[in-house]
Amino acid sequence: MAAYDNCSVCDAKGTLECKACFCGYCRGTGQVSSKCPKCEAGQAPCGACGTTGRVVAKKGWFSETYGACGQCGGSGRRRCSSCNDGNIAAQCRHCLGSGRDIVCTLCGGSLKVKCSNCGGAGKFESEWLKSLPTLPIDRLKFEINERERQIEEVRREIFKVESDYAGLIHYWKYEAQNLPNVHWGAQASAMAPYNEKKGKLARRIDELEAEREVIKQVLVSKWK
Ligand SMILES: [Zn+2]
Ligand SMILES: [Zn+2]
Ligand SMILES: [Zn+2]
Ligand SMILES: [Zn+2]
Ligand SMILES: [Zn+2]
Repeated sequence: MAAYDNCSVCDAKGTLECKACFCGYCRGTGQVSSKCPKCEAGQAPCGACGTTGRVVAKKGWFSETYGACGQCGGSGRRRCSSCNDGNIAAQCRHCLGSGRDIVCTLCGGSLKVKCSNCGGAGKFESEWLKSLPTLPIDRLKFEINERERQIEEVRREIFKVESDYAGLIHYWKYEAQNLPNVHWGAQASAMAPYNEKKGKLARRIDELEAEREVIKQVLVSKWK
């Protein structure tokens, strides 16, 4: 029985990403594209032939023989090397490339706004927690004792897991002395279930202790 249920809208964080911060100039990309001054839609003039597409192939006394320009294949134009299909990407000057409005009035630049679903708490009081103040004092005392009894029970279980584990390690030490070629990788996988079980029990104790503290607080507030 958890005292709180997490807010699913903000994933228990209590805040949401600010939607107003979006930079309108670059549509949140942080970059703006402008037209390349060196070309026309990515096609730059060929410098080798001066856009004629022809170069002198053979120079004679009275005439020159022309051939197609090898650099541009005779088209007079070459693919521009300073842009991407005629567009140059530049950092957005309004948001300095962040894609976010730096002077957002809604979040003050923090990029986060309070979650309206949970009021920023990230969680809600569970039905169980809300029901506690309605219980009589004797019942609350009983609930505390019940948690303490369960905690003791889980502690005994942990002790049992630990002693099983210690027995296993003792056996391995014996084995290592007598069988030096024992396969050690198998031990790690054999230990895993112990660690998992112990972890689960430890979390159960945390849960029970948290519940006990919550009930205690309700009890104290009833006595006042
Ligand atoms: Zn904002
Ligand atoms: Zn921008
Ligand atoms: Zn260009
Ligand atoms: Zn050319
Ligand atoms: Zn929330």
